[in-house]
Amino acid sequence: MSDICNEGNASAPVDTSLASLLYYEIRMDNRKPRAKTDPDVSKQPTDFRDLSNRILEQADSGIPRALFLKKVSQMVIQFSGCDVVRMVLFKRNRRYRCELNRHMNQSFRFEETSPVSDQSGECTWSSSNDSALDQLCSDIASGRFDSSLSWYTENGSLWLGDITDQTIPGLQPMDSGEGLGIGVSKGSHSLALIAVEAGLQHIGLLELESITPDFFTEQQIESYEFVAQTLGIALAHRRLQEALRERVKELTCLYGIAKAVAQPGISLDEVLQKTVELLPPGWLYPDICCARIVLDKRVYTTSGYRKPAHSMRADITVDGNKRGSIEVGYVWEKPQLDEGPFLNEERHLINAIAREVSNIVEQKQAEEEKVMLQEQLRHADRLVTIGQLGAGLAHELNEPLANILGFAQLATKDQGLRGQTKQDIEKIISASLHAREVIKKLLVFARETSPERTYINLSAMVKDSLYLLQSRCSKAGIKLSCNTPADLPEIMADRSQLLQVLTNLVVNAIQAMPRGGHLTITTAHNDTHVLLIVEDTGTGMSDEVREMIFDPFFTTKDVDQGTGLGLSVVHGIVSSHNGTIEVESEIDRGTKFVIRLPAETTTNSKEGKDD
Ligand code: ADP
Repeated sequence: MSDICNEGNASAPVDTSLASLLYYEIRMDNRKPRAKTDPDVSKQPTDFRDLSNRILEQADSGIPRALFLKKVSQMVIQFSGCDVVRMVLFKRNRRYRCELNRHMNQSFRFEETSPVSDQSGECTWSSSNDSALDQLCSDIASGRFDSSLSWYTENGSLWLGDITDQTIPGLQPMDSGEGLGIGVSKGSHSLALIAVEAGLQHIGLLELESITPDFFTEQQIESYEFVAQTLGIALAHRRLQEALRERVKELTCLYGIAKAVAQPGISLDEVLQKTVELLPPGWLYPDICCARIVLDKRVYTTSGYRKPAHSMRADITVDGNKRGSIEVGYVWEKPQLDEGPFLNEERHLINAIAREVSNIVEQKQAEEEKVMLQEQLRHADRLVTIGQLGAGLAHELNEPLANILGFAQLATKDQGLRGQTKQDIEKIISASLHAREVIKKLLVFARETSPERTYINLSAMVKDSLYLLQSRCSKAGIKLSCNTPADLPEIMADRSQLLQVLTNLVVNAIQAMPRGGHLTITTAHNDTHVLLIVEDTGTGMSDEVREMIFDPFFTTKDVDQGTGLGLSVVHGIVSSHNGTIEVESEIDRGTKFVIRLPAETTTNSKEGKDD
């Protein structure tokens, strides 16, 4: 993983990473906050103090780490006149290495080297094949130096006039790409190794090399120690700034989401669409960033979304169940940043947003359930009122109706009745019978008849009533199919009420198939419930009709065909058995009613039977 930038040589081989790095640098140069005035690196620092000031200025300019280190290396190499500047820096458990070589077209290398961590996860200098140089690095980093040795300064930096004279046994030029990152280039003689510290924490090493023997004086090395100290402060400052910037981005993004959620009456769909649009500004390259949220197979994307080249993802988990994910990515191949394609902080951000979205989904779901419950409650309230009114009316009407029916039936017995009068009386009888039917239904609806609950096998009950249903269906040219497995758990229910439910559903289905069709009755069960499913291939209903079918007296049928009480009665009976009823319907395709009734467990039913 390395980015190489060749300067001042047009014929130098240009690999693809150069093109990406150029893009990377242009983008990075545009990053905010920018310095009020761009510090000029080409101007030679006048003295060590000036060099340190320039480093601090660069640190404050908001440029990314790789560019910052490159500029620091350029300033140091120009100011010192040495041949190679190398830095190895640690950040948590990552190790970065950069190198600027005056003789290799001023080429700058920046790479993340494979980290070597100790037990606490922090990077260390120790390696499996410790060389003399590794040992020295480790000693300088930990401050374990022997001040009596001539190659250490008072502050513990290493300073050698000629590494080839074997002052330190085993120390020799080696390929710096191997080992721990610090190496000595072939042809170098003078070497300086200075610890870089931030506060009390050791964060890396600064290495200076020259092909000229005795290039550095002790006084100069002490001044470079001051420069390394400044570099440590500058790096710590940049890390704080970076952490702050990321925190601001996170808070801005979360604030945006919270603001969207707070809008009165906003739907979950709208919140998720707003959230997905808030994501790109939180990432390092908003212009090439795209985002996608998937929730229960519904997809929300940023405009012009296309499959990203690099992406990161976090799951949306509600009540312990994975319901979807958030994905953020870059649409172009992007140079690998020093921390990989995405910043560490961006991983935290996407996780925080996924948690927030999970909470919103949970909250919205609870709100929707509340609204549904309130609607059910209102409906139940309406039913109770109508039931009470209906029951009163039914009792009041029962007696006069019985009289009308009785006297009309008596009147038909009169032999001297003329044909027309006889027909009229027959109409009175038929209308009275219809009225009696309505009153009976009203009484059931008002649950004036007390239920008698026993253990019932729903499959057996359907089979028993098959004979009646079969004959009604065949008269209407309807094919009847029954799927009724015998091994159904029992339910505790009022048998005649359940028969009423089945009859009402079947009568409605038959009436919905005036030109014949297919009626299917199914019983089934899961762990907790027994199901009764009545399905027809009839006219179906519109959404408006479907919303009102359980309202008492709602009917789309002619006066003598429907009372508008059939499904209210079904609803009342199912609710009184702690069950639920669902309906799916499509115009000209048919209708399906699904009733769920609580199953009795074996133990319960035994206990019940013993009682
Ligand atoms: P009624 O059957 O007396 O009209 P219900 O309460 O049983 O009263 O039904 C109410 C309304 O629901 C019906 O008028 C009809 O419009 C609709 N409906 C009920 N079942 C079906 C079905 N299987 N197919 C189509 N529409 C139906």
